[in-house]
Amino acid sequence: MSQDNQNRHPLRFETRLLHFGGEIDPTTGASSVPIYQASTFHHEDVFAPPVHDYSRSGNPTRQVLEDYIALLEGGVQGFAYASGMAAISSTFMMLSAGDHIIVTEDVYGGTYRLLTSILNRMGMECTFVDMTDLEQVKRALKSNTKAVYMETPSNPTLKITDIGAITAWAQNHGLLTILDNTFMTPYYQRPIEQGVDIVLHSATKFLGGHSDVLAGLAVARTESIGVQLKQLQNGLGTVLGVQDSWLLMRGMKTLGARMTHSEQSAAKLAAWLTGRNDIEAVYYPGLLNHPGREIHEKQCSGYGAVVSFDVGSGERAKKVLNAVRLPLVAVSLGAVESILSYPAMMSHAAMGEKVRHERGITDGLLRFSVGLEDIDDLIADLDGALGVFR
Ligand SMILES: *Cc1c(COP(=O)(O)O)cnc(C)c1O
Repeated sequence: MSQDNQNRHPLRFETRLLHFGGEIDPTTGASSVPIYQASTFHHEDVFAPPVHDYSRSGNPTRQVLEDYIALLEGGVQGFAYASGMAAISSTFMMLSAGDHIIVTEDVYGGTYRLLTSILNRMGMECTFVDMTDLEQVKRALKSNTKAVYMETPSNPTLKITDIGAITAWAQNHGLLTILDNTFMTPYYQRPIEQGVDIVLHSATKFLGGHSDVLAGLAVARTESIGVQLKQLQNGLGTVLGVQDSWLLMRGMKTLGARMTHSEQSAAKLAAWLTGRNDIEAVYYPGLLNHPGREIHEKQCSGYGAVVSFDVGSGERAKKVLNAVRLPLVAVSLGAVESILSYPAMMSHAAMGEKVRHERGITDGLLRFSVGLEDIDDLIADLDGALGVFR
């Protein structure tokens, strides 16, 4: 697709997934970007150094991926990291000792660990609040508050944060806003369009989509944030390798098709679970009674592929996990194959039981990341597993 053509017709999201500017190798016309498996670059003329001089600071393959995610999120600059946690930890390095961060209490477990057992040692402090309640966020403001960290929908109970409201308030107080967009992806939710400064991803999940690559991404809303993130990515050396950069781009091309299929199936699964009398609760933003559904619909064009549900007890949850035949029983989500997780013993095992229960992460809660299998097979499989023990 020539630049000229792109200017004439602004491309829609699904088309941009395939025609993002780096899909063809400009040198040979090859149908995918070459993997530049090189750590360093020859200086033909020392007075005119090459664009990239060392792969930690910049690599042509990784660069295409970084431009790709920046385009999809609508930001000015993208960054690729060795994992989601590498993206998150590198971003927190924008802050300094003595700074305070307001964080959603439903934050991803690895981020919680980073904040409470590593960054606290470096003199950064944080307050966890229920971000579905703007008043709680406001009350957490201190004289040294520098940033607000959001995740919506949250994991695993899919609580909804009002991105626009929190961002507007944060901007009034000069705070940096950061949002982990792993669950929705830019296909459904583009926080930068609502003023968020930095969007983060565990690209290990929906963006990669095949449970075969670990990666993280960040996108900056402004040039000055981009400059800071670039300095940190290079200074910390948290970059993504070139093979994984290529694999991730291969996965991202089908993001639209995968999300659409999985979302349809997730809606069907959520409706089926809701109709059963042996399920205590179903959490899915597409359900009519889901708290925050209206806010979600205002800021997001879809409901995603993750459905959580409570089978009533830990004993029953374990029976179901051992009885299903189709989904992977594992941590992680967002893949072509369905993944069934048990938060109480997997992602949230480190959380104290009292706090865990207060957050709705009960012993009977299961999280189903719906893949691309035929949904009727997935439902039949789950039906059989639920029947094992009532
Ligand atoms: C998995 C995950 C992460 C961490 O990403 P890794 O690629 O495992 O390092 C961060 N945030 C969310 C919401 C996740 O699901």
